[in-house]
Amino acid sequence: AISREELFMHFQPQIIISSREFIGVEALVRWNHPSKGMIPPSYFIPLAEENNLISEITTFTATRSIQQQGIWKEQGKNLRLSINMSPKLLYDLDMPEDLESYAIEVGADISKIMIEVTETALMSDVARYMDILVRLKMKGFGLSIDDFGTGYSSLQQLIRAPFTELKIDQAFIRKSTTNKECHTIIKISILLAHELGMTVVAEGIETEADWNILKELGCDEGQGYWMAKPMPGEDIMPWVEQWKSKSSGE
Ligand code: C2E
Ligand code: MG
Ligand code: MG
Repeated sequence: AISREELFMHFQPQIIISSREFIGVEALVRWNHPSKGMIPPSYFIPLAEENNLISEITTFTATRSIQQQGIWKEQGKNLRLSINMSPKLLYDLDMPEDLESYAIEVGADISKIMIEVTETALMSDVARYMDILVRLKMKGFGLSIDDFGTGYSSLQQLIRAPFTELKIDQAFIRKSTTNKECHTIIKISILLAHELGMTVVAEGIETEADWNILKELGCDEGQGYWMAKPMPGEDIMPWVEQWKSKSSGE
């Protein structure tokens, strides 16, 4: 798929909930198979991890996304870019250096690059990942805990790890209006993140009701179909105009 150029990137906007300002995007990989059509990353990323192909895929996703970030910057939008990092690569001591060299080579601003790692990945062996996480942090990358609430990371681990952002899993957001427990989990996650000095992002905001609850609970940023679905890089600028008019009309 990589050599046949069947992989490509989509980007989903991330928005500051209090001001409705568009500040960043999450890069999400896509595979358009010639006969099978679109294959979701939740299917092929685990396969790539099992078959030692994840490093190549990540090189592709990271370089493509950083290139696109540069294009937006030229167009006047200096956006933060979030990249999903497979836990398999959190053992690779070269990864932080490789990523840094590429960013420097193309003139990207490292402080505008966020590395996402899922909470379930962290649970297994946080001590072994710590070295790489600290290296990334020291180089100036942001670090984000993805799908928070789906794993069982201990509070002690969470406090020790150098994360700057926490993303509440979409399963909780989806039920925020109907399920008291989910509402409580969101509330506590926001409190916890803020106490630890982290920014909180809610993923999977599908309705205005979800947005309003998160706003009420003091969630910092949001991402979801209600604002925008993941889209090709060139669609971002036209979307910004739509978002501005939607926001000013309300
Ligand atoms: P994730 O990092 O948690 O990404 C968020 C997923 O939620 C994306 O699915 C996105 O399309 C979807 N989503 C966003 N807003 C909404 C919403 O309002 N409603 C619903 N129902 N879904 C929403 P996607 O693109 O299928 O990616 C699935 C997972 O695959 C990602 O979860 C991430 O863990 C992984 N992934 C995607 N791209 C990459 C990549 O480049 N590298 C690695 N290692 N993993 C990736
Ligand atoms: Mg993610
Ligand atoms: Mg997630």
